[in-house]
Amino acid sequence: MSPAELFSLPFMQRALLAALFTGLAAPAVGTYLVQRRLALMGDGIGHVAVTGVAIGLLTGWSPTWTAVVVAVLGAVAIELIRERGHTNGDVALALLFYGGLAGGVLVTGLGNQSAARLQQYLFGSITTISAGDVVVTMVLAAIVIAVCVGLAPQLFAVAQDAEFAMVAGLRVRSYNLLVAVLAAVSVTVAMRTVGLLLVSALMVVPVATSQQLSRSFRTTIGAAMLLGALASVGGLVVAAFASYRAQVAPGPTIVLLSLLGFAVTWPVAAWLRHRSRLQTPYVDEPLGHEVSDDHEVHDHDHGPECGHVAVPHDDHVDYVHDGHRHAAHDEHYDEH
Ligand SMILES: [Zn+2]
Ligand SMILES: [Zn+2]
Ligand SMILES: [Zn+2]
Repeated sequence: MSPAELFSLPFMQRALLAALFTGLAAPAVGTYLVQRRLALMGDGIGHVAVTGVAIGLLTGWSPTWTAVVVAVLGAVAIELIRERGHTNGDVALALLFYGGLAGGVLVTGLGNQSAARLQQYLFGSITTISAGDVVVTMVLAAIVIAVCVGLAPQLFAVAQDAEFAMVAGLRVRSYNLLVAVLAAVSVTVAMRTVGLLLVSALMVVPVATSQQLSRSFRTTIGAAMLLGALASVGGLVVAAFASYRAQVAPGPTIVLLSLLGFAVTWPVAAWLRHRSRLQTPYVDEPLGHEVSDDHEVHDHDHGPECGHVAVPHDDHVDYVHDGHRHAAHDEHYDEH
């Protein structure tokens, strides 16, 4: 079969669309998780979501939606346990993960469903995705991408330094919960593509790869989304062609392809770092200030309660309002 014939098949078109949106959404959330050193949070949510899928299979409701509900509840529970910060927090998380996986397998059996049915969700089954599921996948992924990109300044500030962001007046707890919910939604979105047991790879590996090559946050998240999309679509196509000779599952192929991307960039990144050390012995100031005197008079001093968006920046806090971003310094305002 030629590539043109393959891509004209309706099931392949559905799978490609789902893979593209999944590949963009998962690393977008993953960037914030990696930044907060919560790389395995997606894995935990994935285990909890197994129970959600099983409930769907048992009740006859859509497994996608029962998985969304259970994954969101699980993610909020994980975030609340983590927030307490006790030493046995990771034990509490482990209990939740095992409970999720064991509960899922148990509930699947109760409904007289074979384990094979659950396996579609554990390791993905993108080529059997229905038109309705593709639409749900695209809508949920688009929401995740829009929030991750649209709220990037706030989410970045909170993930970078929570204490500083709190001083700056950001609602740290709400933003952390928001990231947890976004992670849960993207786990569910990626469930049909790479499966619940491998979903964390698509959230973390493209981010790790782009972090090797980029120092700025904006480039990291952009490159991670691009790499995720390339791995998802590429893995699906590779698996489809390889399947003429042997049984090749798209989910694991996608994950191995993104790992290959990481392995290939490793020496390139090492060489680039070496070269940039030779060329710039001194680190440049990343973002400068421009002094502005003709700023309109404020009827308030910017502060935690003033209602403007606060962005921590080096040793001070900038406020965003009326289309510009600035910080008060003595008698003048610094524009950015
Ligand atoms: Zn203000
Ligand atoms: Zn500033
Ligand atoms: Zn102002």
